[in-house]
Amino acid sequence: MRKLAAGNWKMNGLRADGVALAKELAARAAREKIASEILICPPATLLFPVAAVLDASGIALGAQNCHAEQKGAHTGEIGAAMLRDVGCTYVILGHSERRAEQGESDAVVCAKVEAARAAGLSAIVCIGETLAERDAGHTLAVVERQLQGSLPTGLNPAELVIAYEPVWAIGTGRTPTADQVAEVHRHIRRLLATRVAEPAAVRILYGGSVKPANAKELMSIPNVDGALVGGASLVAEDFWAIVKACG
Ligand code: PEP
Repeated sequence: MRKLAAGNWKMNGLRADGVALAKELAARAAREKIASEILICPPATLLFPVAAVLDASGIALGAQNCHAEQKGAHTGEIGAAMLRDVGCTYVILGHSERRAEQGESDAVVCAKVEAARAAGLSAIVCIGETLAERDAGHTLAVVERQLQGSLPTGLNPAELVIAYEPVWAIGTGRTPTADQVAEVHRHIRRLLATRVAEPAAVRILYGGSVKPANAKELMSIPNVDGALVGGASLVAEDFWAIVKACG
C-alpha cells in the first residue's frame, strides 16, 4: 500500500507564506522521486492559490472541513462540491479540534463523510482518545465508538482514510509508544471490516507530534500507512523529512 504523508496547516498562513511553502514542496517533488503520496491541506483561503502552484506537481490538495450539505443557506460554510471544484481530492473530517471547538459529533462527521463521497472527495476521518480516556483504559472503546459513529456503511477504500490521532499527542510533543500505536491501529483495522468491503486497503494514518526525529519509527509500525502532520507540516524541510520517512 502506498503510504500517505498529509500536512494539516490548520489556521496558519497568509497568501505569501502559503504559496511560498507550496512552491518549495512542489520544487522538492519535482527534484526527488518519492514513493509515498503527498497531500497538503491549507486553510480555505489558500486553496485556490495553492491549487495553482500544485498543478502537475503530483502533490494532492485537501481541505480541513466541509459542510454536510453541498450548497444552500449556510452562511460561512463550504460544500464538498466547492472543494472538489477548486482542486481538492481530500478533506479532513472530525479533527479533534473541530470535535472540541465546534462540538462536532460522530453523527455530524458521518453526514460530512457522505457529502464528501457524493462530491468525489476522499474523507480523512480523525479519531482518537483524550488523556483522561487513555488513563481510564478506554482507548479502544473510544476509538471504536468514534469509528462506528463517524462512518457510513458501503464506503470503498479509495473514499476513506482513517487518522488515529490521540488528542493528548496533538501539538504537545508527546507521542504514544510504538506498542500503543500498534495496538490501536490493529484494532481499527479489525473494526473497518464492519464498514468497508476491503478493510486491508484502507489507509490508517498516525497523527500527533510527528516530527523528523520520530517519523521513521512511527512509519515502521504495522498498520501505520502514513502520517497526518500538523506543526511540522509548516516547515518545508521538516515536512519533507517526514514525507521521505513514509517511503
Ligand atoms: C494534527 O492536528 O492533525 C496534528 C497531528 O498536529 P501536530 O502534528 O502538530 O501534533
